Amino acid sequence: MQLDYSHQQNWHFESGQHQSPINIDDQSVIDWQRGSAIEIDYQNQVSEAHNSGNGLEVLVNGTAILNYRKFNLLQFHVHTPSEHQLNQHTFAAEVHFVHQALNGTKAVIGVFFELGAPDPVIDSIMQHWSKPGQFAIKLTDFIPADPAYYHYLGSLTTPPLTENVEWYIIKEPVTLSSEQLSFLQTLMPKNNRDLQAVNDRPILYRP
Ligand SMILES: [Zn+2]
Repeated sequence: MQLDYSHQQNWHFESGQHQSPINIDDQSVIDWQRGSAIEIDYQNQVSEAHNSGNGLEVLVNGTAILNYRKFNLLQFHVHTPSEHQLNQHTFAAEVHFVHQALNGTKAVIGVFFELGAPDPVIDSIMQHWSKPGQFAIKLTDFIPADPAYYHYLGSLTTPPLTENVEWYIIKEPVTLSSEQLSFLQTLMPKNNRDLQAVNDRPILYRP
C-alpha cells in the first residue's frame, strides 16, 4: 500500500502489541551467547522504603550495565505473586529493579522469589519498616549466583503501560520465607498484572 503523505494525520499508530508481563517458554527462546553479563553497582543505603499504594517500593541509588549500556537505578518494588511466568509457572513473588538511561530508555531487571530461606534484604526492610531514616541493605544478596537471564522488549506493567521497556528476567529464583511473603501481602494482597500475549516478539536467553 502506498503511503498517503498528504494526510499523515490519518496514519495508524500501532501500540499495545508488546505488553508485559508474559510467560517465558524455554522451548521457544533464542540462544543469545553474545549478550553481556549483567553488571550491577547498587548502593547499600536505602533513602526510603514505603508502600507506594501498590505494595513495597524502595528508593535506592545505583547503576547497572545492561547489554553494554549504563542505566541508573530509580527504585525497586515487589509483586505478589510473580507477574512473569517461567514455563507456565507462577512464583510467590517477583522484584523489579527499575532503571533509566540518560536518553530515557527504561530497563527492568526481574528476579523471582520462591518460598524457602528468609531473604536478607527483605529482612532489613521489615526491621526498619516503621522507623524513619535511612538504613543499609546489601542488594547484591538479591541477585542469584547464576547470571543466566531472559531478555525481551515489553512494557511497564502499570499505567501508562508504556512500551519499549527492556526486560531482563533472571532465570534462577531466590527465596523468601512465608513470614516475609505475608509482610509483602499485608501491604498489597495481590498486585500482578494479567499475562499478555507474546505476539511476534523474540525472547532471548543469555546462558
Ligand atoms: Zn513491577
